[in-house]
Amino acid sequence: MRIAFNKVAKENSYSLDLENERFSVKSNFKIKPKTHSILHCHLDFHGKIDTICNRCGIEIAKEVDEKIELLISNGIFNGFDDNLDVVEFLDEFVDFDEILLSELELISTNYYNCGSCEDIGELEY
Ligand SMILES: [Zn+2]
Repeated sequence: MRIAFNKVAKENSYSLDLENERFSVKSNFKIKPKTHSILHCHLDFHGKIDTICNRCGIEIAKEVDEKIELLISNGIFNGFDDNLDVVEFLDEFVDFDEILLSELELISTNYYNCGSCEDIGELEY
C-alpha cells in the first residue's frame, strides 16, 4: 500500500492486512504530523509469523502482538532522534507494506525455540 505523503499527513489511521507464506498479520498505523516532512507513527500489529526453531530447525509459527513507534520522513532525514527509528521515503510516497515488512523481518531474525526445545531448555536449569 503506497500512499502520497501529503495525503497520509492529512489522514490519521490506516489499516493493512498482510498475508503471504511467512506472515499473517493485521496492522494499524496511527499517524500524526510532527513537522511538514516528518510524521509520527504508532504501528500496532498482531498475527502469526513463520520462523524456524533456533535449536532444531523445524518451522514454527510465532504469535506476535507488537506496538511500535517510529518516524516517517518525506525525503532524507537530516535531524536526529534518540528514541525512535526513522523510516525515509524518497519518492513522496509512504509505503506501508515496506514499513510493516521490515518490522516483521526484524522480529523473525530473533532466536526462537519450538515448544519441545523450550522444554529441554527448562530441564537444563
Ligand atoms: Zn526446536
